[in-house]
Amino acid sequence: MQTRIIDGNAIARETRAALRTRVDALRASGHPPGLAVVLIGEHPASRIYVRNKTRACEETGVRSRQVDLPADTTQAQLLDQIERLNADPEIHGILVQLPLPSGISAERVVEAIAPEKDVDGFHPCNMGLLAMGRPRFVPCTPAGVMRILEHEGVPVEGKRAVVVGRSNIVGKPMAFLLLQSGATVTVCHSKTPDLGEVTRQAEVLVVAAGKPNLVKGSAVKAGAVVIDVGINRVAGGQLAGDVDARTVAGIASHLTPVPGGVGPMTIAMLLVNTVLAAERTIGR
Ligand code: NDP
Repeated sequence: MQTRIIDGNAIARETRAALRTRVDALRASGHPPGLAVVLIGEHPASRIYVRNKTRACEETGVRSRQVDLPADTTQAQLLDQIERLNADPEIHGILVQLPLPSGISAERVVEAIAPEKDVDGFHPCNMGLLAMGRPRFVPCTPAGVMRILEHEGVPVEGKRAVVVGRSNIVGKPMAFLLLQSGATVTVCHSKTPDLGEVTRQAEVLVVAAGKPNLVKGSAVKAGAVVIDVGINRVAGGQLAGDVDARTVAGIASHLTPVPGGVGPMTIAMLLVNTVLAAERTIGR
């Protein structure tokens, strides 16, 4: 079988371009959408992620404000900063770049962000709404995966879907979205005894485990749609996904590459959520 390699960069470009008219309308009404990205310390990978997010904002006409805080910032100082952004009418979305320095509770920080500005969709209120099938903001990575499936014309309703990974930022919201779309969903994790036995049943397989090349071709059903969320830095500095693309090619019908698959969609969906947040403040 010929495996279609999905071009996440192209879908992300389309998604950003489709936002342009909404951004223009917001600007024309005097409410340009604004995203604040808070970065603490000098984590090199975080700096790259933030730079990519800022660049995507600029290209789309979304105002971005980077708030750089020193590595020795205390939790109280960070919470103060978030309070100020919560109250700032020019800011519609707030993102605090993870990971945070030790001594700062990510849970406490996420809960401090006003739910209506939580464009990452991590606040317990937003996660609860998602679980109930009434999403306010959908976390960007799983939202990006759904956009990819839609773009590729992959029907989800009635399909057997398997998600590998149960984190709050990827695996769980991914499972909620697939369930909401009518798939029969199984979630696997590190305690799943025979991972391959479960993944081989998947017609739609989403892998978000953070383990390079965890899923091999022998664990994939012929014709499955395979979405590789993993981004792992391996020996030699290369990036590898959680799926062994070499052995899965020829078995899956579709596969997202790493890099260039889900990653660009995560950023595009952050912009979608920021524009949505701005539209809601003016009652659109
Ligand atoms: P976490 O480490 O928070 O979660 C990993 C999940 O995978 C856990 O639920 C864990 O199980 C499960 N897992 C680990 N090993 C195995 C295994 N051998 N078999 C089955 N399940 C396993 O990671 P994230 O969810 O934050 O991220 C996952 C991956 O996605 C990472 O590579 C990350 O870099 C990438 N990522 C990519 C993004 C993108 O834009 N493309 C955005 C966000 C993340 P348990 O709960 O039992 O420990």
